[in-house]
Amino acid sequence: MNAADRALVLVVNSGSSSIKYQLLEPESGAVTASGLVERIGEDTGAVEHRSGGKTVEHEGPIPDHKAGLRLAFDMFAESGQDLAEAGVRAVGHRVVHGGEVFYEPTLVTDEVLATIEALSDLAPLHNPANVTGIRSARELLPDVPQVAVFDTAFFHGLPAAARTYAIDADLAARYGIRKYGFHGTSHEYVAGQAADLLGRDPGDIDQIIFHLGNGASASAIRRGKPVDTTMGLTPLEGLVMGTRGGDLDPGILLHLLRSADLGVDDIDRLLNRDAGLKGLSGVNDFRELRRLIEEGDEPARLAYDVYVHRLRRYLGAYLVELGEVDAITFTAGVGENSPDVRADALAGLDKFGIAVDPARNAAKSRAPRHISPPEARIPILVIPTNEELAIARAAGRVVESTARNPHNALTHRPTR
Ligand code: ADP
Repeated sequence: MNAADRALVLVVNSGSSSIKYQLLEPESGAVTASGLVERIGEDTGAVEHRSGGKTVEHEGPIPDHKAGLRLAFDMFAESGQDLAEAGVRAVGHRVVHGGEVFYEPTLVTDEVLATIEALSDLAPLHNPANVTGIRSARELLPDVPQVAVFDTAFFHGLPAAARTYAIDADLAARYGIRKYGFHGTSHEYVAGQAADLLGRDPGDIDQIIFHLGNGASASAIRRGKPVDTTMGLTPLEGLVMGTRGGDLDPGILLHLLRSADLGVDDIDRLLNRDAGLKGLSGVNDFRELRRLIEEGDEPARLAYDVYVHRLRRYLGAYLVELGEVDAITFTAGVGENSPDVRADALAGLDKFGIAVDPARNAAKSRAPRHISPPEARIPILVIPTNEELAIARAAGRVVESTARNPHNALTHRPTR
């Protein structure tokens, strides 16, 4: 079978102890199978595999990512789909940090893989897992092209004033310190979907997008190009998240280092795992937070208020940065499912042309939709994100252009 006849793309998202995967058809978006491998490296791991309306589960030790992927592949075979035979056109990998090097979907070669690994300094929690996932998939599907799709890529061209931190310029240059931004695949996909919903060309409109999942980020996009985003050198900056606090006075870290007898690893854990909603309320899941608030839990209420306050701060900043806004969009787990966050983030802004229609906002739907009243000046939208589909499409495009002209592979190699 040659690459052009193959229809399906396998999308792999490897975390430090988990792998999410989806086998899908990039043009239609039809998902053939999907699954989650969890607790890799722990005493008991688990795989949950869904295909053809059925869910198959497996429990047992999963020593590493390769074993996890192999188990997932076995489950494909069990459900009648041998991946080696299924006509997989490409494997698309989500890679968190592309640094200054990668800013478009890139065909994986040994050199590319080594460079992604070298970028682990910038993303120690993410890139090593991404590299392990790519290595495992290459070993298990050696004849299928692997494509890396970078979370930072969409924000590569941020204007200098937005991407530069005001610290010693030589030091910043030496250590690659700049705002990179993350969730780019989602922001780009959602910006395109929002433009479609409005019947406009993404290159003609200005947008603010709030991606509110476990991680959360916002972006300001002028005529299709991002001009600002909340995440920075790492995914720690910006909005309040499930377990990350977003913006902090850096003096807090100095104070803790000097006064609290904490080391670098303690601070790392504090910032990445024990801050945000979890740090304030003890829970990182938004549904749990709602439940606590309904029970009258004060810390949960404060966590919610801090979360919304931060959203409004960036909304204000981005309204001013853009000057004119054609859409404000909410996406990801919280953004898509939490009408109260949307209403509270935008409350009292009628004089700016911003309003939420209570009935539209409360309606449950999985479709892209308006939640502003028909007469409002600025459309407020809810758009379900689909990072897997965006990655599958990007991977499909790279493989197609390489098949048409093998020299094109060179254009997907890093430029330094
Ligand atoms: P990620 O992909 O970053 O892991 P998601 O986009 O899946 O995260 O978002 C996870 C968050 O969305 C969790 O805080 C979860 O509680 C929240 N969420 C999911 N469904 C709902 C819902 N129906 N109502 C409120 N919050 C929800």
